[in-house]
Amino acid sequence: MKGQKIGFKKNDKVMVMAGKEKGKVGKILKVFPEKDRAVVEKVNYIKKHTRPGGKTSKGGIIEKEAPIHVSNLMLICAKCTDPVRVGRRRLDDGKTVRVCRKCGEILENK
Ligand SMILES: [Zn+2]
Repeated sequence: MKGQKIGFKKNDKVMVMAGKEKGKVGKILKVFPEKDRAVVEKVNYIKKHTRPGGKTSKGGIIEKEAPIHVSNLMLICAKCTDPVRVGRRRLDDGKTVRVCRKCGEILENK
């Protein structure tokens, strides 16, 4: 099914591996599985012009994180403290978890 292979979840710690934001580290704020994109905290800021009006906006320019393609992101292993390739492992209770291919650490948020 489309969107099932995105591999990232909210609150994952990731590093940007390509593009102008290369090397930046941040937490995933939101994922868009249908677009294969994710919004990463403090990464890929864009300036956005807003019009006056509405309850929240006075108009002007706001800076906001723009979604970045997930192929540019890699999960960071807390143990290796490096971006790592992610494998999957089935636990005794039948749950599948993401694991670090380097050290075997389970990479799920608690
Ligand atoms: Zn690791």
